[in-house]
Amino acid sequence: MRQSAVRSDHAEIAAHVLDAIDREAAAAGLRECCGALVGTVRGGITRVVAFEPLENAAVAADRSYEVRADDVLRVQRHWEDQGFDVVGFYHSHPAAEAVPSATDAMHAVPGYLYVIAGERVRGWRTEAAGEPFTEIRLRSVTRG
Ligand SMILES: [Zn+2]
Repeated sequence: MRQSAVRSDHAEIAAHVLDAIDREAAAAGLRECCGALVGTVRGGITRVVAFEPLENAAVAADRSYEVRADDVLRVQRHWEDQGFDVVGFYHSHPAAEAVPSATDAMHAVPGYLYVIAGERVRGWRTEAAGEPFTEIRLRSVTRG
């Protein structure tokens, strides 16, 4: 069995994170907002407990996004003491559906969760470089 076969087709994401990404996407207007998703991956299930907005470093920030490696490293270092990792990224599609673009596919890291905020917020993952994305159902989780 391939390793990818044990990964779940859904991910859990804290309700407040989901809401905040939606709001940030709306506030960013015609620019794509982006950031890191922070949480854990256990038993094939990605759980997102927090997020960190990052500057969109893309030249054409109205139709693409780019995060700086230094920014991601900073987020990783900040959260690792608490037992969390960067488990994916989110960005917005101001004028397109919440499905990955060709550019998104080109830059995708296999195994990471990609959350895209368009008319609604949807999750995606690719299992290997160059392979198509599969949709990952986002289960909104509210705790205590
Ligand atoms: Zn995109």
